[in-house]
Amino acid sequence: MSEGMDTIMASLRPANDAAPSPEAGAGTPGNVAELMSLVGATLLDAMFGNLAPSYLAGISGEVLYANAAYQRLAAESGQTLLPSHRRAVQRALDRREPFMLHETLGRDDKARIYTSRHFPIFGPDGRVAAVGASFNDATGESEARASARLERQRLNDVIRSTSDWVWETDDRGRIAFVSERITEALGIPPQLLHGRFLADVGQFLPTGARPGTSANVLQLFRPFRDVPFEIEDRRGGSRRFHLSGVPVYDDAGRYFGFRGTATDVTERHAAEDRARQSRRELEGVLEELTAKNLQLDVALRRATAATNAKREFLATMSHELRTPLNAIIGFSEMMQLGTLGPLPRPYQGYVNDMLTAGRHLLALINDILDVARIEGEAMRIEIESVPLSQLIADARAIMETRAADKHIDIAAVGYDGDLVIDADKTRALQVIINLLGNAVKFTQSGGRVGIDVGSRDARFATVTVWDNGPGIPPDKREVIFEKFQQVHETILSRREAGIGLGLTLSRQLARLMGGDLTLDHSDGQGSRFTATFPLALQPKL
Ligand code: ADP
Repeated sequence: MSEGMDTIMASLRPANDAAPSPEAGAGTPGNVAELMSLVGATLLDAMFGNLAPSYLAGISGEVLYANAAYQRLAAESGQTLLPSHRRAVQRALDRREPFMLHETLGRDDKARIYTSRHFPIFGPDGRVAAVGASFNDATGESEARASARLERQRLNDVIRSTSDWVWETDDRGRIAFVSERITEALGIPPQLLHGRFLADVGQFLPTGARPGTSANVLQLFRPFRDVPFEIEDRRGGSRRFHLSGVPVYDDAGRYFGFRGTATDVTERHAAEDRARQSRRELEGVLEELTAKNLQLDVALRRATAATNAKREFLATMSHELRTPLNAIIGFSEMMQLGTLGPLPRPYQGYVNDMLTAGRHLLALINDILDVARIEGEAMRIEIESVPLSQLIADARAIMETRAADKHIDIAAVGYDGDLVIDADKTRALQVIINLLGNAVKFTQSGGRVGIDVGSRDARFATVTVWDNGPGIPPDKREVIFEKFQQVHETILSRREAGIGLGLTLSRQLARLMGGDLTLDHSDGQGSRFTATFPLALQPKL
C-alpha cells in the first residue's frame, strides 16, 4: 500500500520525463508546496493516515507531511524527522534513486522492525523536489524468519546428533536433496548425486529381518528404519550406512517421494565383524579346551587308577617281600650265632654271605618302597625337634664298621654344637647315612670323610658331608639326583651296594621335611654334598 505514495509522487514528474537526468539539481520547494496545497493534508491523511509510517520531506529535511504513525514515532525522540531519515533524505538527494532501509524504530518494548523505501521526487524541471518514504512493519516477518531459522537450526542439530546426512527423493526414487555432510563420508559432493536413483548410488543389503533380500526398500512405500546400504566411496573402498526413511505425501494425498536420514556405521560394522571373528576364534579355542579337558579327565582317571594300583602294589610288596626276607635274615643270624648248635666250618662263610646279601636286598627293597611311597604321596613323616649332635653321632656309629673295613678316616664326622632341627628323626638319619655311605663307598681306601655343620639365613641348618674321593664329572652333577643314575660304572662301584636311588630318595626326603639336598662342590679332589633342614624355633641345648 505504501507503493501508493510512490504513485502519487510520481505524478509530480513530467509525463515525458520518467527518468530525470542526473545533472538536474534539487528542485524548488515551490513545486512541492504547490502540490501540497493542491492535494491538501486532509487528502493525504485520508490516504495514508491509517497506514504504516510515511513521510514526505523537503530537500532541506523539513517534514512536509507525516502520517499519524510516523508522527508518533518521531515524537518519541522529540523530533519531526528521525536522525536516520535525515540522513536518508540526504542520500536520496545525492543518489537520485530509491533505496531500502531496514531498521528498528520505537523505544523498548514498543520497538518494531521496519523496512522502508526512500525515494526522491522530481519536480517538472527534473530536479529533486522532495523525498518520500513509506514504511513496512516487518516485525512479524522478521520474527517468523528468526523462528524459522531457529527451527531449522534445531532440526539440523537433531539430525546431526542422530545421523550423518539427510536425503530426499522424488516420487521416482531420484535423489532430490542430500545434505552437505555426505561429502565427509564419501568424498562426493551432493551435486553429483542429485537426480540419480538412490538405488543406483548404492546397494541395499539384506538384514537379519530380511535375510537374503537386498531389494530397494523404497518400492515398498512404507517407513523403514536402519536398513543397511553400501556405497562405494571415492577412495575405492565402500562405506556402510544405516538408512531410515518415510514416504512423503502432499495435502492431496499424492505420493511425493521419500525423506530420511543416513548414519555411517562403517566403523561400527567393522568392529562388530572383528568382535564376531574374535568370538568365533574364542569358540574354537573353547572347543579345543573342552576336548583337551576331556582328554585330561581321561588321563586323570587313568593316573588315579595307576596311583591306586601303585598303592596296592606297595602294600602288597611291603608285606610279601619283606616277610620272606626277614625270615632269611633272621634264620641266617640264628645260624651265624649257632643258636641250634655250631655250623660246620664251610657253611659259616655261606651263612655270612646269605646274611650280607639278605640285608643288602632288604635295604634295596626299602629304598624302592620309600621312593614309591614318596611318589605316591603315601610317605608319612613326623616332625620333631632333633639335636644335630645326636643325629650325627648316631650316623657315625652306624658307619664306623664300614669305614674301618675300608680304611676310611671318619675322624671328622662329628658335631658338638647346639643346633637343633625340625625333622623326622629316622628320615633325617637316613639322609645323612646315605651321604656318608656314598662318601665311604666311592672314596678309595685310606681316604677321608667328614661332616661340617653350619646355618643359613638363620632359618636352616646345613649338614655338609665331604670326602676326598674321585668327585663327580660336571655333566653328571644334576643327573645323579635322578632315579637309577650312577656315574661310577666301574668295578669299584659295582662291587659296592646300590642301585642309584640313594640321592633321589635323600633329596625327596629332605624336601619333604622342608629342606633340600644339593651337591655344593665336586672335583678330582672330592665332593661336598649339603643337606639343609629347618632350624627348630626353640633350639634345645
Ligand atoms: P648309588 O649310590 O646307589 O649308586 P646314589 O643315588 O646314592 O646311588 O648315587 C648316584 C651316583 O652318584 C652314584 O652311583 C655315584 O656314581 C655318584 N656319587 C654319589 N655320591 C658320590 C660321592 N661321594 N663321590 C663320588 N660319586 C658319588
